[in-house]
Amino acid sequence: MKKNSASVAVIGSGIAGLSAAIRLALQGKQVVVFEQNPYTGGKITAFEKQGYRFDMGPSLFTAPHLVDELFELAGKIPSNYFQYHTHDEACRYFWLDGERITLFPSIDRNVEAITTVFGNESGKRVRKYFDDARKKFELTAPFFLESSLHKMKTFLSPRVLKVISAIPRLGLFTTLDDQNKRYFKEPKLVQLFNRYATYNGSSPYQTPGIMQMISYLEHGMGTHFPVGGMHAISQSLTKLAQELGVQFELNAKVERILLEKKQVRGLVVNRAERMFDIVVCNSDIKHAYHKLLPKNMRRPKKTLAQEPSSSALIFYWGIGQTFPVMDLHNIIFSEDYKEEFHRISSNGPFWEDPTIYVHISNRLEVNDAPKGKDSWFVMVNVPYDQGQDWEDIVGKVRRKIIERISSVLGKDIAPLIETEEILTPPQIHSRTSSVGGALYGTSSNERMAAFLRHSNKSSSVKGLYFCGGSVHPGGGVPLCILSGKIAAEWIEEDE
Ligand code: FAD
Repeated sequence: MKKNSASVAVIGSGIAGLSAAIRLALQGKQVVVFEQNPYTGGKITAFEKQGYRFDMGPSLFTAPHLVDELFELAGKIPSNYFQYHTHDEACRYFWLDGERITLFPSIDRNVEAITTVFGNESGKRVRKYFDDARKKFELTAPFFLESSLHKMKTFLSPRVLKVISAIPRLGLFTTLDDQNKRYFKEPKLVQLFNRYATYNGSSPYQTPGIMQMISYLEHGMGTHFPVGGMHAISQSLTKLAQELGVQFELNAKVERILLEKKQVRGLVVNRAERMFDIVVCNSDIKHAYHKLLPKNMRRPKKTLAQEPSSSALIFYWGIGQTFPVMDLHNIIFSEDYKEEFHRISSNGPFWEDPTIYVHISNRLEVNDAPKGKDSWFVMVNVPYDQGQDWEDIVGKVRRKIIERISSVLGKDIAPLIETEEILTPPQIHSRTSSVGGALYGTSSNERMAAFLRHSNKSSSVKGLYFCGGSVHPGGGVPLCILSGKIAAEWIEEDE
């Protein structure tokens, strides 16, 4: 560990806050993480009920090397702290007319599966889809995801020239939906690959075609699931941070960031002033400007006006029977995907045709449910909270998804629900301060969304940095880990 005794306060112990805290401790800084909840991890948390265990937030784990990297940087053997299963299936897809397909973390197997189920598809075009997703990922991830877009240095890198020369092929000027139609004839496959827009809370009918690269995370980099569930990610990183000397103050809601002459001075936490040289804010950027920073401060209006990403309704069900036809990740598609996203983006009235995601963690973590039973995480995408009548919506969605899942499984599941908890957008907001309960910060529906996200460093306050899903490079576990990395690197450079 390098010696540097600057004191750093991290506001929030989400995955980005943990990533930043670990890296800053390794720089030799004295780090204190303030977390308003009685637990660390933010959205990555879990609960148990009547013999069932549920992860509350993320369920899809991609890019595990980014978690491993944090242990390696600290000179530890990652598997001593954190282990994961590698699974041979990516996702099972179901349509209401009885059509089904399973995709894999293997391009060869996917080409075979797709051309077998949908005989009118050309194997060559299907393979090209996966190859192009990989190329887009490999070309753009180091620029758009792993570097700051607010540093001149990033734009001077030779890599940028490659990105610029590839712009016509990146799909920046077409929607994901239009682009997917160039690869697939079958509308069901277009729908299936449109789904990757939801991995950052966007609409495939608005987000640009470059989002095709997200599918590479799943099909090219493998399907993984942590031993102990997703919660093991935040728990093991909290343990590592503590071993590196990071202090955690729980039930510690930061009320204000203290400034003096455009320089950070500290925080107000539970009505007490605490002095720090540097503040890293892992809280939602809108929450930071509206609640934590002085009202008279200049605000990045365009950035703060960005539309939040979509949110979700989640039903955590202990199911008194196991259904082997479903695997770790399952999707039951809506009949009118376009209208579903139109309703989500325009915050229209309840849409009676939702796509349903069912995650069953006990397929790999067998102790997550009693023997012969299933632990189901059932999620539908909904708009972020704008004061809708969620009680009414929950009732309608619940009836609809029970009807649809029962129809796919050929059995009424209602009497099998032994235990239930529900999470709504307002609850996501109140638990994590994510404005409107947005899952992924701001949406990527705009072509320039990547450039409109807030920087990881304040341009007007010295000593103030940001990380987390609402700032660069965006939401989702891997990107949040990278945002903590970019913020910590920036702090080191500024010294
Ligand atoms: P958060 O997890 O939002 O944590 C921020 C922390 O800051 C919280 O603990 C909060 O309490 C604390 N905080 C905020 N303000 C203050 C304050 N004033 N004082 C003290 N503490 C404060 N991503 C994936 O990669 N795969 C998935 O499958 C996936 N599915 C998801 C499903 C759901 C239901 C949800 C909710 C999210 C999902 N995501 C998924 C998104 C992913 O969980 C998030 O992008 C990521 O975890 C966000 O991390 P973060 O560091 O930005 O902050």
